[in-house]
Amino acid sequence: MEENVRTGRCVVAVDGPSGSGKSTVSRRLAAGLGARYLDTGAMYRAITWAVLRSGVDLTDAESVAKVAGEVDLRIGTDPQGYGVTADGVNVDVEIRGPEVTAAVSAVAAVPAVRALLVARQREMIANHGRIVVEGRDIGSVVAPEADLKVYLTASEAARAARRSAEDAADVAATAADLARRDRLDSTRKVNPLQQAPDAVVLDTTELGIDEVVARLRELLTERGVA
Ligand code: C5P
Repeated sequence: MEENVRTGRCVVAVDGPSGSGKSTVSRRLAAGLGARYLDTGAMYRAITWAVLRSGVDLTDAESVAKVAGEVDLRIGTDPQGYGVTADGVNVDVEIRGPEVTAAVSAVAAVPAVRALLVARQREMIANHGRIVVEGRDIGSVVAPEADLKVYLTASEAARAARRSAEDAADVAATAADLARRDRLDSTRKVNPLQQAPDAVVLDTTELGIDEVVARLRELLTERGVA
């Protein structure tokens, strides 16, 4: 702990299903800590964009892995606003579109895609040292040594309402999409969405963003890391 204070190292892993509040909480926490922020979902989405562009069959794991291995993926880590590019093309808007959202869980289930991105994510964490990382397998696989692991949850209704407000989409359709992705993300063989045994679980259904961020700051202070 002493060493953490001296070096300023602070790695926070934030996992949970879609709509649990991960992105907003993680960005705000990172900004408050003067830390970097890594959205690993955006990395899976950018690879998915490249796979769709290539036209390969999504069920052909070998071809999907080949495209993933060849794409030049870059992602910023500024919590106030980061860009994602694939082969030099800015894909910030496209990766949030319905085509990518519909295909991303299938691409993220390909073991070679995960191996590639987990390695990139570990490298970025090691380079920055002071970073909030959000995803599905951060506390369990990518950064099991994180100073704080958080698992955010919220009721299905609250998650669907948040996502449909963000996307201006129909709540019922959003709820169906979330349920589908949750199922795929939780049941895949490699690195499924899971709660690390030592993660702090926070149900955000009734909590405001500020309350969640304040609680995480308290936990970090208790642990002597921020
Ligand atoms: O967080 P977001 O909803 O943008 O993530 C999109 C998808 O990327 C998830 O549904 C999941 O399939 C995949 N993902 C993953 N592992 C992560 C982050 C995201 O498999 N660490």
